[in-house]
This record gives sequence, C-alpha cells and structure tokens, in this order.
Amino acid sequence: MGKTAIITGGGSGLGQAAALRLAEEGINISVVDISEKGGNETVEQLKGKGVDAIFIKADVSKAEDVKNYVDKTLEHFGSIDYFFNNAGISGSGKYFLETDIQEIDQIVGINLMGALYGLRYVAEVMVKNGGGSIVNTASSAGVIGQDSVVTYAATKHGIVGITKSLVAEYAKDGLRVNAIAPGPTETPMVKTFFEANPEMKANAEAGIPQKRLGTPEEVAELVAFLLTSKAQYINGDTIRIDGGFTNTK
Ligand code: NAD
Repeated sequence: MGKTAIITGGGSGLGQAAALRLAEEGINISVVDISEKGGNETVEQLKGKGVDAIFIKADVSKAEDVKNYVDKTLEHFGSIDYFFNNAGISGSGKYFLETDIQEIDQIVGINLMGALYGLRYVAEVMVKNGGGSIVNTASSAGVIGQDSVVTYAATKHGIVGITKSLVAEYAKDGLRVNAIAPGPTETPMVKTFFEANPEMKANAEAGIPQKRLGTPEEVAELVAFLLTSKAQYINGDTIRIDGGFTNTK
C-alpha cells in the first residue's frame, strides 16, 4: 500500500503546492481545510496526478475537528506516514496595541492550538505505528522579531519550540519533526495581506537579499525533502527558506 500524508491548509498556498509536489512521489493525501472550495479543488488536481486523495473539512482550532480528520484519514487510508501541519492565518498586520483581543485569540487558536492539536493526535498514531515524519509551518516571524506581527510571531516562535521539544521526547520512537520558516512567499494569504498593507510589500522585497518573494513551489520542494526518506537524519530543526532575509537581519 502507498504512503499517506495529511496536509492542513491543503486548499491553498503552501499546503496546496506541497500536496501537488508529494503527489509526484506517489503519496496519497488527506487534504484538510476549513474551505470546501479550496480543499475540493486540491483533491481534483491530486486525482488528476493519479494518487488517491480525500477532502476533510475541519477548523483546526477545534480539537474535535482535528480528531475527526485523523480518524477519517485512518479509516480511508489505514495509516499516516507524513503530516504537513501547516494551516495558519496572518492576522491584520496592525500594531499590537491596535489589535483587539478577538484577533489575538483567533491567531493563537488557529496557528498555535491548531498545530498542537494536530500534533497531539497525529504523533500518537505515528508513535504507535513505529514512527513518521512531520513538518510544521513556522515563518520568518518565528525566528526573528518584526513589527506588525506580534501575536503571529508568538505562535510561530511557539512552533519552533514545539518542534525541538517533541523530538526530545519521541525521536527515539521513530518520529522526525522539523519546521520550515518561509519568508514572504507569493500565496493567496500574502497577496491579501500586502493588498491591505501595500507599503509593506515594497519594504519586504527591498529587505530580501534576493530581491523577490519566494514561490509556493520552492517551499513545497523543501517540505517534500524534509518529509520523505531523503532527510532521515534531520530532526528538530527549523529550516529557513527566505532568500537570505532572516540571516541578514
Ligand atoms: P493561504 O491563505 O494561501 O492558505 C492557508 C490555508 O489554510 C487556506 O486554504 C485556509 O482556508 C486554511 N485555513 C485557515 N484557517 C483554517 C482553519 N481554522 N482550519 C483549517 N484550515 C484553515 O496561506 P499560506 O501562505 O499558504 O499559509 C500557509 C502557512 O504558511 C500558514 O501557517 C502561514 O502562517 C505560513 N507562512 C506563510 C508565509 C507566506 O509568505 N505565504 C510565510 C511564512 C509562513
């Protein structure tokens, strides 16, 4: 039987690009997203590439939805070999003291609690079955400080810490857990964010040594490398993929 991956936020951007890249390796995929339109679109594209794929609607900030996507994946595919724990939102880009409590709760709920719930249920299955490989999506905002992203940075620094600490507990059980820290990458999330904050796009490009944003396909290549057997001895790390951005801060 083929290998299976769960991808959260699989209906758009980095999640969709990673799904399509993993399909090239013949990996079957559970596409998890709150958006039915995006999720179903990805599933159709995956089927066109000859792999088995299902869409599972979930709000990752709800533990019961997370348990459900894990159960449904096991029912359909029988195993979970890879997990791209990726769903997230950016927030409004307002300065912290202009941010309301509801926005803080929402960003933490999706980016941090959603990632933790996913790890709680997926890692349990993987450890029981002898191991597996996980990639969590952090961000440049998870490795350096920046304005306009205080709550987002809290969640993404959290992802980096979770990644290291899980490895301390479960690498011995065959679990590999890494994170990616993309800089600004041209996904729908970033396009929306930059439309609302146009001055930030010019600033972002100017601050990147390669003078351009990243592409979802470049990030998907890293995700595929880290998840699959090609990266057997990389564990607990956060890999930056940002055109030199954070390393020159
Ligand atoms: P995107 O908006 O294109 O895709 C995110 C997907 O997550 C969407 O399909 C959306 O419907 C889904 N989603 C949002 N809330 C959800 C929820 N509560 N439950 C389930 N699904 C939900 O964004 P993207 O740029 O592909 O972002 C993916 C991840 O990458 C996020 O964690 C983001 O923080 C991170 N990231 C993005 C960039 C970038 O520049 N694009 C940079 C660094 C990190």
